[in-house]
Amino acid sequence: MKNKIESGLFGVAVGDALGVPYEFLSRHQMKESPAVDMIGYGTHNQPKGTWSDDSSLTFCLAETLAEGYDLQKLANRFVNWKEQNYWTPHGEVFDIGIATSIAIHELHCGKDPVLAGGDTEDSNGNGSLMRILPLLFYIKDMPIKERFQRVKEVSSLTHRHIRSVMACFIYLEYALQLYNGKNKDEALKQMQEIVKSFFENAEIPQSEIDRFHRILSIKVGEYDVQDLQFLSEAEIFSSGYVLNTLEAAIWCILLEDNYKDTVLKAVNLGSDTDTTAAVAGGLAGIYYGIDNIPEKWIDNLVRSNDIKDLADRLSKKLMGNE
Ligand SMILES: [Mg+2]
Repeated sequence: MKNKIESGLFGVAVGDALGVPYEFLSRHQMKESPAVDMIGYGTHNQPKGTWSDDSSLTFCLAETLAEGYDLQKLANRFVNWKEQNYWTPHGEVFDIGIATSIAIHELHCGKDPVLAGGDTEDSNGNGSLMRILPLLFYIKDMPIKERFQRVKEVSSLTHRHIRSVMACFIYLEYALQLYNGKNKDEALKQMQEIVKSFFENAEIPQSEIDRFHRILSIKVGEYDVQDLQFLSEAEIFSSGYVLNTLEAAIWCILLEDNYKDTVLKAVNLGSDTDTTAAVAGGLAGIYYGIDNIPEKWIDNLVRSNDIKDLADRLSKKLMGNE
């Protein structure tokens, strides 16, 4: 378990740091000058190895879980990050999503954590998906109903709409299959079966389930079911919309066969490069393990030792419970 916690956290942060210099560049621009290695500066003018909000909030969750599941403490850490630059690479928040910013303001004002996130259809950016991975290590042995409940709670601090919750849940259910040692194609099939039957019994609107048809392999209307890995790049979008990010991240995993190529593929899709790569990187980290993440990228990562220490603390806490 320890190594997968470490490779999951580094998987997110390395993907994030690779994407930061390219955030907002179009796919066309990425095609003209593709990302091939970790670089500095670019969009946010940050030195090489600088990770962003995706990793900061991921670390806030990991650190909270290292003490115990507590939504108020998680909320406090989010506020601390936004207001006091807690868990930032260089003592400065340089990237924050609109929905996340509004929700953290609500948390700062004392709102109940599970009611702080936006719940409208247009509040479905990828801001909770990008930070949800560490929850896997806490919920992995729970019954599915409880896993869903915890995912719903943790997403709701910033993203409370059912679509964001479902995206986070699907992501962690896929990660769980990878964690348990299934190969990535088998893991996808298993996840689809488990999630589809859970959603059908959980009284989730069919219209929302159908939105995930490409990930869950569901037939909608007269369209044939098409497996995600057979979709062309032109059919994969990499905006900040949660559904786009989830599809793109899983697509990258399915198409590549190592950590490095998976996250570079995610970055080279353009647009929300850091988050697509962070989400794909979390899965790839768990699947391929820490030794498959290029060592120089881990060494280049800002506060690499602090991240390692955090992984150790979370491992110790969760293994202590077993
Ligand atoms: Mg970011």
